[in-house]
Amino acid sequence: MVSKVEPQSKGSIKIMEKKIFHIDMDSYFATCEQQANPFLRGKPIAISGHPDSRTVVSAASKEAKWFGVKSAMAIHEARRFCPEIIFIPGDFDKYVYITKKIINIFLSFTEQVEVTSIDEAFVDVTPIAKRHGGEINVANKIKSELKKQVGDWMTCSIGIAPNKLIAKLISDFKKPDGIMQVRKKDIPSILETIELTDFCGLGRQTEKHLNRMGIHSVTELQQFPLEKLVKEFGEIGLQLHSMSRGRGSDYIPSYYDESQEKSMGHQITLPKNTMDLEYLSNTLLKLCEKTSRRMREAKLVGRVITVSIRHSNFEGFSRQKAVNFYTNDGYQIFKIARNILKTFPLNSPVRLIGVSISQLTTSDQSQLPFSDNQKRKAILKAMDTVNDRHGEFTIKRASLLKELNLKRDIPGHGLMRKFK
Ligand SMILES: [Mg+2]
Repeated sequence: MVSKVEPQSKGSIKIMEKKIFHIDMDSYFATCEQQANPFLRGKPIAISGHPDSRTVVSAASKEAKWFGVKSAMAIHEARRFCPEIIFIPGDFDKYVYITKKIINIFLSFTEQVEVTSIDEAFVDVTPIAKRHGGEINVANKIKSELKKQVGDWMTCSIGIAPNKLIAKLISDFKKPDGIMQVRKKDIPSILETIELTDFCGLGRQTEKHLNRMGIHSVTELQQFPLEKLVKEFGEIGLQLHSMSRGRGSDYIPSYYDESQEKSMGHQITLPKNTMDLEYLSNTLLKLCEKTSRRMREAKLVGRVITVSIRHSNFEGFSRQKAVNFYTNDGYQIFKIARNILKTFPLNSPVRLIGVSISQLTTSDQSQLPFSDNQKRKAILKAMDTVNDRHGEFTIKRASLLKELNLKRDIPGHGLMRKFK
């Protein structure tokens, strides 16, 4: 937590409070479309797949949000809220291209940039704030560079706090185009005003679990005995305890630090479009095996599994699940990925499928409560050795024997990787 020790005066030192930004682009996909097409500006628009297909809103412009349109809302429902809404098919390549530009703006200020999704990043401005006349000035300069370099319709909201937990929490408070700062001394009063699920990572399931234990507010969570939380949730209990006190990591690695891989994954364009769940599932297993093998080579483990599919009409879905253990076991990853796959609407043919694992850490630093099974590890190691010597997939799981004739295999990276 200690960032920098500044000599204050003889005999006393002051620990400088960190200035962590959480920068969240406002209604990102919709804003990108409005930036690209001035006709759409100021109008309620939603990003979706094909307007005639039964699908959901993947992003809504701020004008559409005023009518009550939200992401994940069914198209017909969005139309009911806002009959004049304009649907635009998503153009993921465009958004990735713009994200790269945005990241370069952040990097022109500092290399302490941690990209967490296509439209969100943490930036540590502690060492550079003074040079720019303070952190608020840095925030305003970033906003004006966005307009200058990407376009005058682009806005973001910035939360400034001593750690990532609070920065992420408050970047939402003054949307759109806001800046909100909370200093360490003000964290307790902010925590009194929020709900449990306002914390990033505390979902409805955990909330229900806490409710059953008689915990309904952040204050009640603070007061709940730590031992009981740990007994109930294991390691997560420790996290809940520190969350309730507003404590969180303030470490932002350098963007250029190659050891800090954001995610690892593989995706392929299928030889022919298909709605066959078994075929997709088998392909997914192969992708999981390939990914996990690369993770083991890099001595990395991860705990967030993301599955993405793209339909033949270019409509795309991406869903993820965070599990409470770290793994680099392909089959274990596959079991989670397959469950995610089953939640996708397979009502039109799929042309691309991918899997990626994020929240990576080095395997020696993590505890592997579920996968730390020596026998299993030995099997994986043996498989890797044979495959190293004789080529990929010489040894494979039985269900992979139904060999797939894959047309194109894009090695490498999940969509949320570093955008380099
Ligand atoms: Mg956003």
